[in-house]
Amino acid sequence: MADYLFTNGTIVDGTGDAPFLADILTHDNRIVRIGRNLSAPGATLVECTGLTLTPGFIDSHTHSDLQVVEGRTEKLRQGVTTEIVGNCGFSAYPPAKNPADLRSFANGIFCGDDQWGWPSTEAYLRSIEESRTANVVSLVGHGSLRIAVAGNKQGAVTETELLSMESLLAEALDAGAAGFSTGLMYAPGSSAPTEELQRLCNVTASCSKIYTSHIRSYFSGLVDAVKEQIDLARHSGGKLQISHLQAVGAANWHLQANAIDAMEQARTEGIDVEFDCYPYVAGSSVLTQLLPQSALDGGIASLMARLRDPAERQTIRDGVLRSIPWRWSDIYISSVGSETNLGAIGKTLEEIADERGSDPVDVVLDLLLQEEGDATMLCFNQSAENLRASLTHPFATIISDGFYVKGRPHPRLHGTFPLLLGTVTRDRGWLTLPEAVHKITGKPAARYALSGRGVLKPGYFADIVAFRADTIDSPATYESPELDPLGIQFVYRNGQPATIE
Ligand SMILES: [Zn+2]
Repeated sequence: MADYLFTNGTIVDGTGDAPFLADILTHDNRIVRIGRNLSAPGATLVECTGLTLTPGFIDSHTHSDLQVVEGRTEKLRQGVTTEIVGNCGFSAYPPAKNPADLRSFANGIFCGDDQWGWPSTEAYLRSIEESRTANVVSLVGHGSLRIAVAGNKQGAVTETELLSMESLLAEALDAGAAGFSTGLMYAPGSSAPTEELQRLCNVTASCSKIYTSHIRSYFSGLVDAVKEQIDLARHSGGKLQISHLQAVGAANWHLQANAIDAMEQARTEGIDVEFDCYPYVAGSSVLTQLLPQSALDGGIASLMARLRDPAERQTIRDGVLRSIPWRWSDIYISSVGSETNLGAIGKTLEEIADERGSDPVDVVLDLLLQEEGDATMLCFNQSAENLRASLTHPFATIISDGFYVKGRPHPRLHGTFPLLLGTVTRDRGWLTLPEAVHKITGKPAARYALSGRGVLKPGYFADIVAFRADTIDSPATYESPELDPLGIQFVYRNGQPATIE
């Protein structure tokens, strides 16, 4: 393999330390030297005057479980060289007895078809190792684990089923999965009692791996939901990452500070808890997230039957209205499965209701029925003040949480990292460049025990991004989310130039 000598770059090394001017010499897939005026006969020269060089970015919370295997390049274009998939309870393994059950559970988040699947955990973990676009590690998703053992049913599993879940989890962690994730607002994981989570967290901690959680509530129940997770970590002794921390809905915005206080307090007690967050006030999810999750007991087919039954539909409708933290004008439809409702994409539920002479809540139920559950949304969740407080907190790792849709994705899928370094860091001054880079390189590498990654240092993997600090940014907007980033000059992964088709 060729050696490369990157000359005269401004190095921001991923540790959070101040930038310095230096050359970087690589050999095979590793960095061998960093210093001034290096010479290396035979190495290919890469002139970097005027460029900032950082470690390849680590997107430590993504839902690209299928796309990292397919070789999609949306992340690579942003400078991402490592992705952590399997978040929020959704992983592409362990295999379910009926593969259709796993697909129907995960497809809204995975943007999958009705074909994908791997015969074993090991087969999936091998296939991500061979990704052409990223270094990929995966968490074991609690929902997927549950479906493998107990199918798509709600409520407590039997002791025999729980024992099987424990052993499948331990096997997956032994086979190389990086940790365990829950998604406690998504059926069937949402129906798991705390005792079930405790048993699985104990397995994770005994394998010295991280536990990450999309907690039970980001609404009025935020603080209790964070405390439930802290208690799990207190009893397991393991490492805890609260996923995409935020307080959703204006009525709940004041709760974010309390949630962070609870984590700070836990840290003083020696509990290893931190969180991640994305640099946008809007989030995205599946449209079924608006429903009481009990409506999904038995999977999508059962939901369809309930929506067709007038009495059950009324119960679901009441449940939506009782719990919804957003205004209808804050929720946009971002994708639908069929041609029927293509006109709804990019519109708010309020706008669609006005067009149709209907109520927004009925629009939701009708869309789900017509699209057989296959619809996603983008919602304006947070205040700018809270966003700044979370992004700049020392516990925060910054992530995309992006997922693919057949429609109009959230701009974070195309722009998270350039936006962070441009708009958020350079223009608004919320973070210094070394701090921002640390939160997407050295920090997640340490958190997820990605050895040899996240820092520019001799002996480490040569994952290197070069960008222009004065122009890096993302022009992607909510209206036009698929625009490519600006200012990224090149990306090397494992010592080789990454090809972006
Ligand atoms: Zn999530």
